[in-house]
Amino acid sequence: MNPLNEINGKTNTSTKKRTNLTAQENRVFNFFSATQLDWEDWRWQMRNRIKTLEILERLIKLTPNEREGVEGCGKKLAMSIPPYFASLMDPEDPSCPIRMQCVPQKSEFEKFPEEMADPCGEDSHSPVHGLVHRYPDRVLLLVNEMCAMYCRYCTRSRMVGEGKRTLSRETYEAAFEYIRTHKKIRDVLISGGDPLMLSDRLLEYVIKTVKAIPHVEFVRIGTRVPVTLPQRITSELVTMLKKYSPLWMSIHFTHSKEITKRVKFACDLLADSGIPLGSQTVLLKGINDKPEVMKKLMHNLLKIRVKPYYIYQCDPIFGSRHFRTPVSAGIEIMEQLRGYTSGYAVPTYVIDGPGGGGKIPISPNYVVSHEGNQYVLRNYAGKQYIYHDPA
Ligand SMILES: *Cc1c(COP(=O)(O)O)cnc(C)c1O
Ligand code: SF4
Repeated sequence: MNPLNEINGKTNTSTKKRTNLTAQENRVFNFFSATQLDWEDWRWQMRNRIKTLEILERLIKLTPNEREGVEGCGKKLAMSIPPYFASLMDPEDPSCPIRMQCVPQKSEFEKFPEEMADPCGEDSHSPVHGLVHRYPDRVLLLVNEMCAMYCRYCTRSRMVGEGKRTLSRETYEAAFEYIRTHKKIRDVLISGGDPLMLSDRLLEYVIKTVKAIPHVEFVRIGTRVPVTLPQRITSELVTMLKKYSPLWMSIHFTHSKEITKRVKFACDLLADSGIPLGSQTVLLKGINDKPEVMKKLMHNLLKIRVKPYYIYQCDPIFGSRHFRTPVSAGIEIMEQLRGYTSGYAVPTYVIDGPGGGGKIPISPNYVVSHEGNQYVLRNYAGKQYIYHDPA
C-alpha cells in the first residue's frame, strides 16, 4: 500500500470528501479540484500557489488587517502559498501560526528606525554576485531568488520574490571560480531563495561542481521546502543528493503545526538517505515566543530526526516590528530548555550582528562570579557550585 494514501486520505469518489483529514484540508483540496496525483506533484503545487486576494478569501476568513496586507504586498514581497501549506491554516483564527507566517498584514508596510533593507549586511560582504563570504572557512552560495512560500519576516526580502527564477550561468561560474581560488573555504552552504526550487538537474550541477573543488570538504543545503512543499522531496531527488555525501541539510521550521505526517514522510526520505538534518527557527512574536511552544517544537523535531541547530532572533528587516520579540524572550526560552529537556533538544540562540557581524550566540548567564582561579556557577535550577581552575 502507498503510505501517501494514508497521509493524504483516500478519496471517496461519491462525496469527494477524503477520510481522516481536517475540514480545511478537504476545503483546499476540493477548491482546487485536485486529484491525489495532483496533490503529490510538487509542480502542481507550485502552479496552484495562492497569490491573490480573490482566491485567498475563498479559503479563509480574512481580517481587515490581512486584507490590506494582501492588497499592498505586491510591491514589497509577493504572497505565495502552496495549496498544501494553505490546507494547514486555520480559516477562522488570524493568530494561527501557519497563517501568520504566510498571509501578509498591513503592519508590513510600517518602518521603524532600527529596521534595514539588508539587516545582515550580506550585500557588503559579497565578493561576487550570489556569494556571501563572512567567515574565514565557509561561504554562503545564494543560487536563486525564489521560494515556494514567502515568509513574511524574510531577512532576504530585498532579493527574493517572483521574477528572476535562477541566476545566470555566468553568475554561477564566477561564484565557483571564487571558491576555487580561495583555498581556505572548506564548507559551502547552498541557499537562496530556496535551492530546492531548482530542477534536480541544475541543483546537481551546482553540488557536483562545488564538491569537485579539492578543498571543499562538504556542502550543505539551507531550505524551507521540506516544510512548505514536502512533495518536492521525491525519491529521485534524494537518490541524487545521496551521491554527494557528506551533504548536510538545514531546514527552516517555525512551529509544531508544520510537522505533519507528510513532512515526516519527506524528512524520513532524507534521513534514510544518510543526510543529517538540522533545524533553523526564527523567533517570532505570537508564533513561537512562548517557552512551552518552542520546547514542543524542539521535541517534535527530534521525533522526525531533525536536530535543533539555531534559534535566530528575528532580523530587523523593514516591516518586521510585529514579529520581533525582545531579546529577553529568547534568553528565557533558552533558560527553560537547558537542563529541563534533552541536550539534543537545545539549539544555539543567535543574533545576526546587524550590518554584518555574523551569528553571535546569546545565552543565559551561568557564571555567577569569577575571581582568580575560582568560578561560582549556577545550574539550570539556580543552585550554586564552585569550580576551581587547576592551580
Ligand atoms: C549562517 C551563515 C553561515 C553558516 O554559519 P554556521 O554557523 O557555520 O552555520 C555562513 N555564512 C554566512 C554569511 C551565514 O549567514
Ligand atoms: S524560505 Fe527563507 S528565503 Fe524564502 S521567504 Fe522564507 S525566510 Fe525568506
